[in-house]
Amino acid sequence: MVLKPVLRTKTTTLFHTHFQRYNYNYAMPTPSIVNLNFSISELCRKGRLKEALHILLTTYHSTVDSSTYLQLLQTCISKKALSEGKKIHSHISERHLKLATIKVLQDTLVRMYDQCGSLVDAREVFDQITERDVLSWNAIIAAYRRHGYPQEALKLFCEMQATGVQPDQFSISSIFQACAKIRDLETGMKIHQSIMERGFLSDVVVASALVDMYAKCGSIQIARELFDKIHQRNIISWNAMLAAYAQDGELDEALKLFEEMPRRDVVSWTAMVSGYAQNGFFEKALETFKQMQLAGVKPVSATYASILPACGKLGALKQGMDIHQSIIENGFLSDVVVVSAVVDMYAKCGSIHMARQLFDKMSRRNLISWNAMIAGYAVNGFCKDALELFELMKLSGTYPNHVTLTCVLLACSHSGLVNEACKYFNGFTDSYRIAPTIDHYVCLVDLLGRAAYLEQTLKFIIKMPVKPMTVVWTCLLGACRAHKNAGLGAFTATLLLELDPKNAATFVLLSNIYAEVGMWDEVQKVRTSMKDGGIKKIPGCSWIEDHKKVHAFYIGDRSHPQTQEIYAKLDNLSLEMKAAGYLPHSKDALNDVEEEEKNIFLCHHSEKLAIAFGLLNTPPGTTIRVVKNLRVCVDCHSATKYISKIVGREIVVRDANRFHHFEQGQCSCKDYW
Ligand code: ZN
Ligand code: ZN
Repeated sequence: MVLKPVLRTKTTTLFHTHFQRYNYNYAMPTPSIVNLNFSISELCRKGRLKEALHILLTTYHSTVDSSTYLQLLQTCISKKALSEGKKIHSHISERHLKLATIKVLQDTLVRMYDQCGSLVDAREVFDQITERDVLSWNAIIAAYRRHGYPQEALKLFCEMQATGVQPDQFSISSIFQACAKIRDLETGMKIHQSIMERGFLSDVVVASALVDMYAKCGSIQIARELFDKIHQRNIISWNAMLAAYAQDGELDEALKLFEEMPRRDVVSWTAMVSGYAQNGFFEKALETFKQMQLAGVKPVSATYASILPACGKLGALKQGMDIHQSIIENGFLSDVVVVSAVVDMYAKCGSIHMARQLFDKMSRRNLISWNAMIAGYAVNGFCKDALELFELMKLSGTYPNHVTLTCVLLACSHSGLVNEACKYFNGFTDSYRIAPTIDHYVCLVDLLGRAAYLEQTLKFIIKMPVKPMTVVWTCLLGACRAHKNAGLGAFTATLLLELDPKNAATFVLLSNIYAEVGMWDEVQKVRTSMKDGGIKKIPGCSWIEDHKKVHAFYIGDRSHPQTQEIYAKLDNLSLEMKAAGYLPHSKDALNDVEEEEKNIFLCHHSEKLAIAFGLLNTPPGTTIRVVKNLRVCVDCHSATKYISKIVGREIVVRDANRFHHFEQGQCSCKDYW
């Protein structure tokens, strides 16, 4: 690309004015070199990274100064542009080796690689820094924490102190976040003790991170005491405390805290919306968002970014569409973060075509937009489209990150593409230098398990370079259930219960495995140990949206005003289903109910109630969308297939694992979930 004459004239003029004003008295560099640096800076300032990079790569002047490189790298960070960042890095190393040892550039390279998704490269640059100060350490500690390696972050924090570098408020708040992530109260308290004397607690960021750490580690009381001592509370501290109460199930306390909030401007409204949304109170988040609009407060980008995931979680398509409309009206359509969140919302509501339409219309897409769309295809079971879109993403020059790999593996997993998944997994780690995270291993375990390679899965888990967490074993247990392997199932459940003795899901899965193979004595034993241990099953709950309100149903729920009609509808459907050949599958009954109740309740599972409600309240021919908090049970899955055929409607059910698009007696998951 050649610089346009207009720009050249302008920069030259600006340059002269600048020099005249400050009366520099050193030898002026030749204008062309200054022009080069200035032009690149100007383009970076305008966010035109590709053009700036083009000038850098096609000009043969050797004098690109460090501040220009810094600006280029900052632009890569803000645009999450890894491939451009890599080109700039090699330009520095090849042509300006001296610059490569400037510490501020090295620190910025670490941050660039971290924020653009390549932890391996971040570490490589960090290892080359000879004089590491607290800024260099902060950059690498944050990188490990953000990439899902809190334990490594803690190790690095200790290493930093061992080399005599004192932590600052950023290292401290970063490390509290790492402790919170792995619920390491002991280390957190030690660090808290060590900083008491040093005045860090007057820093609101450190204090909020500390509140968050205690709260997440279950010490709500200490969290509250610390919270009360913070003079100038900000969104982070409010959110931390709110999240603490919410996680502890103390919604009343949380609500009392929300009302104490001093000012109700867009910042505090957004804090409330995001606090509710992030802590699972999606309906409350939507309600607060509506109140905010009624109060005449105009949402900002962060408000939309918080509320849209709540719609996605609830499958609240109609409200999501209203929010989309408000985004159009308030002029946020060019905000790539907001629009990506809308794409994600449509995909999560099972409206994958609307997601794609919007995605295609986006004038600018970033990594988040591509990831949202690929993930959308993957969870909806459109695996071919997900993989095709991934190829397009590569062609567009967008560099994938670890989230992309998760989406691609998920797509392979949902359609049983074992060889392809291994190819992608190796390809990502080789060509994109993406270090596999626990999420990737979970996908692979899930994939191998689904494909019935149970022994291989076990071997794979044992050989994994990261510690298999409960989620990995739960995956294997799910596979044992699907393939009726009671022996390995019992072994896996024992391991799981050692890691997490109170996990109801483990008991339920194990008892379902025994039930599948008819080992009823064992089923009884599992049930007894659940009762003795005071383990409560998570009640199954399904949501359905109608006239812009979300209705929730529990098993055997009779609290809805339309209860009579709903149960009558189910009774009628049962008769038609049986006539069409449906047989109730009662073996999974522990999913929701006790043995003695199961025959009555099997046809009153939450998703069936929600579907019946949908049939009664939506126009014929329209799609019925239901969201369930647990996995859909075998019986409901089979029943929904029959219902879709009998009523001639598409029924979309999103369960805890994936989407099921039921149509004409078939499900998109091909009975593989
Ligand atoms: Zn069910
Ligand atoms: Zn299905």
